[in-house]
Amino acid sequence: EDKLDYVKSKIGEYPNFPKEGILFRDIFGALTDPKACVYLRDLLVQYIRQSQPEVEVIVGLDSRGFLFNLLLATELGVGCAPIRKKGKLAGEVVSVEYQLEYGSDTFELQRTAIQPGQKVVIVDDLLATGGSLLAASELVRKVGGVVLESLVVMELVGLDGRKKLDCKVHSLIKY
Ligand code: 5GP
Repeated sequence: EDKLDYVKSKIGEYPNFPKEGILFRDIFGALTDPKACVYLRDLLVQYIRQSQPEVEVIVGLDSRGFLFNLLLATELGVGCAPIRKKGKLAGEVVSVEYQLEYGSDTFELQRTAIQPGQKVVIVDDLLATGGSLLAASELVRKVGGVVLESLVVMELVGLDGRKKLDCKVHSLIKY
């Protein structure tokens, strides 16, 4: 059985969520299936092992990125850190404002989460316009980290988000 095909078959599809005209790709459809969970873990871990064997920190984006950053970090024996929406992280933080479809939002990262020079992979569930991952890589660089690559489970290729990004990007599933 092909692991990637199996995971893909379990991703949910919800038309007109969260608003009219959007086809929402739901990672939780796969995560509620025990076999798809294990396969997805295997695929992500295997990918980073071969692509970025020198990674030192896995950064996950608020909030579905957190499903993967701790999981990958423990499998690989490295650290992990969260990027969160404004006002959620304690201590000294760096901030970046980024554009949403309507308006903007702010992401933050704790200044001590990454040591200068540390090699980072950023993870999230889905790449759409690329605004979130672009802001995340800016934050990592602001605290002195080196962005090796961004890794997502799903990519909406029609939105061309990867063109906006200035680091290597890999997606397991393309729509
Ligand atoms: P971007 O910043 O690339 O436009 O949007 C990516 C962010 O929006 C990700 O954090 C992702 O979780 C969320 N997102 C946008 N569309 C979808 C979707 O169809 N499914 C899921 N699961 N997340 C989405």
